[in-house]
Amino acid sequence: MRPTRREFLLHVLATAAACGDNNSAGDSSTTDANTTTDDPTTGDTPTTGEPVLAYPFTLGVASGDPLPDSVILWTRLAPEPLVVGGGMPGSVRVTWEVYVDENLTTVVASGELDTDPALAHAVHVEVRGLDPDRWYTYRFHAAGHSSPIGSTRTTPALTAKPAGMRFATACCQDYSDGYPTPYLHMVDQQLDLVIFLGDYIYENDDTHVRSHGTPEPRTLDEYRARHALYRTQPELQAVHARCPWVFLWDDHEVENNYVGANPKQPDPDFLARRAAAYRAYYEHTPLRLPPPTGPDYQTYHALRWGDLAEFWLVDTRQYRDDQNCGGDPGSGCDGWQDYAGQVLGAEQEAWLMQGMKASPAVWKVLTNQIVFSTVSFGGLFVNFDQWDGYPLARQRLLDFFAAEALSNVVILSGDLHVGGVADLGQDAVDDDSPVIAAEIVTTSISSPSLDDASQIGPLVEGLKRIHHFDAVSRGYALHTLTRAQWQVDCVIVDTVAEPASAGKIDATLHIDAGVPGIRPA
Ligand code: FE
Ligand code: CA
Repeated sequence: MRPTRREFLLHVLATAAACGDNNSAGDSSTTDANTTTDDPTTGDTPTTGEPVLAYPFTLGVASGDPLPDSVILWTRLAPEPLVVGGGMPGSVRVTWEVYVDENLTTVVASGELDTDPALAHAVHVEVRGLDPDRWYTYRFHAAGHSSPIGSTRTTPALTAKPAGMRFATACCQDYSDGYPTPYLHMVDQQLDLVIFLGDYIYENDDTHVRSHGTPEPRTLDEYRARHALYRTQPELQAVHARCPWVFLWDDHEVENNYVGANPKQPDPDFLARRAAAYRAYYEHTPLRLPPPTGPDYQTYHALRWGDLAEFWLVDTRQYRDDQNCGGDPGSGCDGWQDYAGQVLGAEQEAWLMQGMKASPAVWKVLTNQIVFSTVSFGGLFVNFDQWDGYPLARQRLLDFFAAEALSNVVILSGDLHVGGVADLGQDAVDDDSPVIAAEIVTTSISSPSLDDASQIGPLVEGLKRIHHFDAVSRGYALHTLTRAQWQVDCVIVDTVAEPASAGKIDATLHIDAGVPGIRPA
């Protein structure tokens, strides 16, 4: 049996808290789990005769990009995570084990490697030969220390017909705007997967609740320190250790509202900055990819869950044409409705269409960063960074869904720091066109939206396609899929200005398989 979520969270929090400064076994402030050397649940078990290195697993562990027979395990050795070099003396030998049980008695895979200073001592282990649709436990060891214990799982076989699955979507976790308290609630869920929809770090600083403490990153070392700061948060570490994640990036992993090679602040070296940002992103993320070697990095890919669901995890930043009309939201410029700019780029768009057309999955899930629904209020207020700003590219996808008669298409998005659930019509700007798909917009973990929804609320309520809208809350979305139904629970918390706060399900909506759009309440 897996430990309860509470037990697991408490263990991870205790381990992370105890490991930030030292590994003193006699420190009376640490939990008893950290004072014994033979307890397999202990996060730190120094032994004698090993090289002297302070506790290096300060950034926790993670897993990602699961397949039926494989998963990526991740950690990064950094005794001093916020300083250049991470406090590492040089390359260090890391060993790892994967167990079939929670008690760490039966090893099914293990290995060792030497960390590479050129990759910030990040560790990506591609574990192969695992059984499909199965949970595993893993941990790392280095210099006499042991990492926190993570649990992960493989996906069902491609030929399997799973009865259901459960995953969460999250995005937009600006450190300077609050604590990632929604994760304290997410960790209690029985999740097969977390999908992160972008804005894992923020390069800019709002200093609403706290400060990043360092200037805006531009170099590789600066982006590493920024990622490390986020990764030191125990709430985030706990959910990473709980189940595999898959990732999209958005703009703030590099710079607010950048697209392609276009920065938003003038920068002749922007591609060098993008390369540094992409590299640090790789180093802190359990990606099933080699590290990037320059400013280009193809991260888009698909994830299958037997024949129940297929997720296309697209990149709407790297291949996109520049925002129209100067980019700032507003009433637009002449001819904005006819802008032919690309969002996915021709190659990725063809890959997506080919994949969706061929997919046997019950649920076909376009997993992207930016909001797809028409929310331009008749052109009065157009956000040119969203699909609203790329009308022809959006309509081309809707035409494709309709022409291929694709059933059960759901678009997942984030970015706007609001929660929303909507029908998608065949014609993006004709509210009377037939419903052919649905969109679920996940609100932010901590990044702000409006303090006061009294003005926008009535405007959005006037939009026929929108079934749920929350302009003010922080949280995440919980998705429970069966072959007959998709249930989304919008989870919100009271505040992110405090390290912990109460959470609740604010709205629950359904999509019935075979019936396009949101089931009316
Ligand atoms: Fe954001
Ligand atoms: Ca964004």
